Amino acid sequence: MILLHPHRRDRDYADDRSDEVMRKTVAFFEAKGKRRLKDDDHGAVWYQDYLDFVASEGIFATMCTPSGYGADDSRWDVWRICEFAEILGFYGLPYWYSWQVTVLGLGPIWMSDNEAVKEKTAALLEDGAVFAFGLSEKEHGADLYSTEMTLTPVGDGTYRANGSKYYIGNGNQAALVSTFGKMSDTGEYCFFVVDSQHPSYRVVKNVVHSQNFVSEYELDDYPITDADLLSRGDDAWNAALNTVNIGKFNLGWGSIGICTHAFYEAVHHAAHRHLYDMVVTDFPHVRRLFTDAYARLVAMKLVALRAADYMRVASPEDRRYLLYNPVVKMKVTTQGEDVINHLWDVIAAKGFEEDTYFDMAARDIRALPKLEGTVHVNIALIVKFMENYFFRPIDLPDVGRRDEPVNDDFLFDQGPTRGLRKIRFHDYTAVFGRFDLPNVNVFAEQAEVLKAMLIEARPTEEQMRDTDWLLAVGELFTLVVYCQLVLENAEIYDIEEDLVDQIFDVAIRDFSRFAVDLNGRSGTTEAQSEYCLAMIRRPVRDDERAARIWQDHVYAQRDAYEMAE
Ligand SMILES: Cc1cc2nc3c(=O)[nH]c(=O)nc-3n(C[C@H](O)[C@H](O)[C@H](O)COP(=O)(O)OP(=O)(O)OC[C@H]3O[C@@H](n4cnc5c(N)ncnc54)[C@H](O)[C@@H]3O)c2cc1C
Repeated sequence: MILLHPHRRDRDYADDRSDEVMRKTVAFFEAKGKRRLKDDDHGAVWYQDYLDFVASEGIFATMCTPSGYGADDSRWDVWRICEFAEILGFYGLPYWYSWQVTVLGLGPIWMSDNEAVKEKTAALLEDGAVFAFGLSEKEHGADLYSTEMTLTPVGDGTYRANGSKYYIGNGNQAALVSTFGKMSDTGEYCFFVVDSQHPSYRVVKNVVHSQNFVSEYELDDYPITDADLLSRGDDAWNAALNTVNIGKFNLGWGSIGICTHAFYEAVHHAAHRHLYDMVVTDFPHVRRLFTDAYARLVAMKLVALRAADYMRVASPEDRRYLLYNPVVKMKVTTQGEDVINHLWDVIAAKGFEEDTYFDMAARDIRALPKLEGTVHVNIALIVKFMENYFFRPIDLPDVGRRDEPVNDDFLFDQGPTRGLRKIRFHDYTAVFGRFDLPNVNVFAEQAEVLKAMLIEARPTEEQMRDTDWLLAVGELFTLVVYCQLVLENAEIYDIEEDLVDQIFDVAIRDFSRFAVDLNGRSGTTEAQSEYCLAMIRRPVRDDERAARIWQDHVYAQRDAYEMAE
């Protein structure tokens, strides 16, 4: 079974410590129990017990210190980060978030040349500190160009920082807050660290009501020296975007963890609920909703695992991860919303009950598509790759499962963020050609129609400037990339054909829906409309396959897991 089961974890690690981190994290939450988990959620209680646990066990130090700093066996290892993020999401988004913003806060530090801050950071991690990432500002959202935080030279080689940041997780307690700003004299971008406990650092408020502290903070003539500066100019800009590249991948795993726990809870409830002398799971629509939810969830995991492989092999010559990563961010997290919607349609009122995991899941799953670049921002990024992906494939080294215990050096040395349209990809049709399954074949035909539309009814200059139109095309393109990653990992994880075909049954229906959407856009031409209609296809029906998936995969999980009270 590819889904996480806390009591039956079976992920391979080459070292004991990685397994110990996962085992102890699961044990912490299982000992805490569902009642306290939910009480803390309802009371918006700051998770000091969790932070004390991760400090005493050195969990963030292990997970977040790259090689060369801290302990001898330190490494930033995306293979184990995947499961860690999944486990945290499984028990609750607040726990995931506190770690996630620590990851983001560490990004500009580990990317900088400031060795003294890096040594200090490693020591702080060993002491159990958390970190924060001060990028967003209240008035500017995703628009980093308009950053108003300033660093002003005061003449003696030091500076004063002034300005405020908004939506900054851990801003109440972080040992170091990596803060993005501009030099007041040159307008250059800069990153510097501040201490959240310094008298010139003022926590204005928590802008959310939850267990998280998502702060507004203000720097009032905060004294900065070169020792606090992380980067300037292009380096600072690149550090901002490259940090988001590292961090946003984890959003997919938060989503997968949430959906997995919600799935166990929902199928357990439905399988034991009797209405009109039948079990709820006997309703055909309930089976379909559960089967779709399960197929989507397995696909989410296959895609996120596969994207991790490409992140781990990334180099200046192989930047394919820059496409696969926003696909995880945008598509896995929105698929997570679909999974929760399907499950909620089944369990209905139960999903509101205060003692369920589900009522947290239903709320929190909505956050992930919106953090670190909205869905729109990520699709706008994804479409930049479309031309090279479809029309200029090249031979690139095959990438296998990357589970080796090594430091992912390149992530902290990604270099300039420019040149996205020049990135090349291997031929996605190769993996489609290796599967001869009815629904995979139908989907491959749909993708061919999309490609044909892009050549024969080429988007006009005006359409390329119309983000609304581009986003609609982007949904179709993203699904092709997503399905490529599903298939590549279905091979690596030896996923049975029934399940692959079931996943593509869902993908065909989604692709058709996106085609209808594009067809309905006012900017779509008559010629393009014909292609859109040709993209609408039906999955190949196979009742026996669907029955096997239901029985062996979905219903089989009905009593698999319940969190201890
Ligand atoms: C709970 C929470 C925690 C957060 N934690 C942090 C944190 O720790 N550190 C931090 O720095 N930030 C944090 N953020 C900020 C978060 O990253 C921003 O919310 C996000 O960048 C989007 O900004 P916005 O919500 O203000 O939307 P806006 O930027 O105001 O966007 C408005 C609309 O314009 C669209 N849009 C904007 N730009 C583009 C574009 N280029 N192409 C297409 N569409 C576009 C968006 O999709 C959206 O629909 C947090 C936010 C929340 C809610």
